Amino acid sequence: MSKMEVKTSLLDNMIGVGDMVLLEPLNEDSFIENLRKRFDHNEIYTYIGSVVISMNPYRALPIFTPDKVEEYRNRNFYELSPHIYALADEAYRSLRDQDKDQCILITGESGAGKTEASKLVMSYVAAVCGKGQEVNKVKEQLLQSNPVLEAFGNAKTVRNDNSSRFGKYMDIEFDFKGDPLGGVISNYLLEKSRVVKQPRGERNFHIFYQLLSGASEDTLKKLKLDRDFSKYNYLSLDSAVVNGLDDAASFRTVRNAMQIVGFMEDEVQSVLELVAAVLKLGNIEFKPESRVNGFDESRVKDKNDLKEMCELLGIEQSVLERAFSFRTVEAKMEKAYYARDALAKNLYSRMFSWLVNRINESIKAQTKTRKKVMGVLDIYGFEIFEDNSFEQFIINYCNEKLQQIFIELTLREEQEEYVREGIEWTNIDYFNNAIICDLIENNTNGILAMLDEECLRPGTVTDETFLDKLNTICAEHQHFESRLSKNQKFLTDHSLPHSCFRIQHYAGKVLYRVEGFVDKNNDLLYRDLSQAMYKANHSLMKALFPEGNPAKVNLKRPPTAGCQFKASVATLMKNLQTKNPNYIRCIKPNDKKAAHIFTESLVCHQARYLGLMENVRVRRAGYAFRQAYEPCLERYKMLCKQTWPHWRGPARQGVEVLLNDLQVPAEEFAYGRSKIFIRNPRTLFTLEERRRQC
Ligand code: ADP
Ligand code: MG
Repeated sequence: MSKMEVKTSLLDNMIGVGDMVLLEPLNEDSFIENLRKRFDHNEIYTYIGSVVISMNPYRALPIFTPDKVEEYRNRNFYELSPHIYALADEAYRSLRDQDKDQCILITGESGAGKTEASKLVMSYVAAVCGKGQEVNKVKEQLLQSNPVLEAFGNAKTVRNDNSSRFGKYMDIEFDFKGDPLGGVISNYLLEKSRVVKQPRGERNFHIFYQLLSGASEDTLKKLKLDRDFSKYNYLSLDSAVVNGLDDAASFRTVRNAMQIVGFMEDEVQSVLELVAAVLKLGNIEFKPESRVNGFDESRVKDKNDLKEMCELLGIEQSVLERAFSFRTVEAKMEKAYYARDALAKNLYSRMFSWLVNRINESIKAQTKTRKKVMGVLDIYGFEIFEDNSFEQFIINYCNEKLQQIFIELTLREEQEEYVREGIEWTNIDYFNNAIICDLIENNTNGILAMLDEECLRPGTVTDETFLDKLNTICAEHQHFESRLSKNQKFLTDHSLPHSCFRIQHYAGKVLYRVEGFVDKNNDLLYRDLSQAMYKANHSLMKALFPEGNPAKVNLKRPPTAGCQFKASVATLMKNLQTKNPNYIRCIKPNDKKAAHIFTESLVCHQARYLGLMENVRVRRAGYAFRQAYEPCLERYKMLCKQTWPHWRGPARQGVEVLLNDLQVPAEEFAYGRSKIFIRNPRTLFTLEERRRQC
């Protein structure tokens, strides 16, 4: 690019305004209108300062080419039009050159484009970092972990044909030069209930359909499987075939990816055997049977599936059969089905965790030297359905925590920096959701703690007794509402149904049905079943059920699902807090998964609960840019005779001389203790332009 063509794309030839900080006038209407205008012209990215808003285009745009990567490479954040690559580049360079660990936090609701965004960031970083055979192998492995995890952890839902049903955080590690060394993936709470039952219009995890469509006849035969989806109870039929998804081709992609990541052929085989076993398990049915001594018992009806499953896993048929027979007087049959489904869910989710660990083994850095780290977080967004259960409760809790981090790191940090730097600051009010986090996670009277207490209490424990407990303890909480709560603050027109409670989340009110809370939190598997699994002559299967080892009977019960999740979220938050955050806020333009449609009410709702307007206000209330005196002087000293080539004196004074000489209006600047603050990005562009013309 020649000097005369220097682009200041944020301002010139720009569709709408590239940075909401520059929007005039600023109000919700103009904010949404700006997003719409840009969206209509294929500009899906818009900044709020350094935060990137990303609108899902729902079609392939020609803006992710290698040429684009080159365009954004090593350029300053505000030089080119807004792009996710600019954020990735900024984060990567800051990691490489300033030795600051980074995290990329991607939020938004299901279908908003989080997973695609995380892949764009990863592929950008892979394209610009390091070269050479070793480095390329590392990159390839990191990137190929995605198709593997998506096959086993994603599913078609009403909202998204490729919806991630687990949370994912990946640390990518670099050496001091910025070359990639490896990575570590953490996964959060797979939605395992999907294994046995899917809501209408949704599918089970992709891998089931991929295997049946894409495996060779020979493989299927070995796995004792039939290509026909309709043969399997666990596969929903009404939406088995998804437009635009080629399951057979995906199967080949996944096999290939597993190979690149470093799975051995026999490991792949073992995994597929488990997938097949889950399908077989789902087909096992029960019938009551009278025994001579007069007792009724649940019995396996048709033994063929049971037999085949046992053959696949090397389990003695009679052992499993016995584990499935229940003799309790009430609800024998229900119990048998319940046990079957619990086993399928546990088997699958443990296998998923095993896959993540196995990938980690392959991609972990081979060196012990200090590493620079870039974390990428792609976690399920806030969910409000008609019927919300334990899963939504957990997911929404996680989102509350992420909002907390956002508030803490961005808004509060922004204000605190002004105070630190001694710059005058008018306080901006923003809603702090700490109170909602506390309602859920407080160790003594938080909802999770009470659920645990209830799960561990001797005596008859039901979802209703749990709800009673909530009603006694949370009734007064501002953000909690139940049929009994005395708090009328946010009572809505429709009165609360039975067996439900409502939480006023930062993103909206959500009604939770308590049915299943106790069970899902307990997440218990009958000991007979774990022991049967442990007896399998199948090393992977055995490894997944260590508690079935009779030599290691552990009397302590495992931590509850809620407790585990809370702990892993706490670890995640701690990790994030040590890093420099970069935000991508994803927005879904419509409910139809369609291109070109911008549904204003939907966008407005998301913008609101993501707190985007508050974010702009905070940025605008102050100064859009800041830089330490020293690098600022270094960069611009050539623009002024008095500072060029050397300024002998404190850097701060040098910057003052420089800015006076350039006759930049005084109100454009504030002098902080260690940094210069620049009110308007335009000023920065002018400096940059002059510098290039120098
Ligand atoms: P989320 O992870 O937030 O639930 P995804 O990232 O899976 O959402 O995106 C949902 C779908 O939207 C994708 O499968 C893809 O079809 C489309 N999509 C998302 N981002 C883009 C993009 N940048 N370009 C084109 N299509 C996209
Ligand atoms: Mg996703």
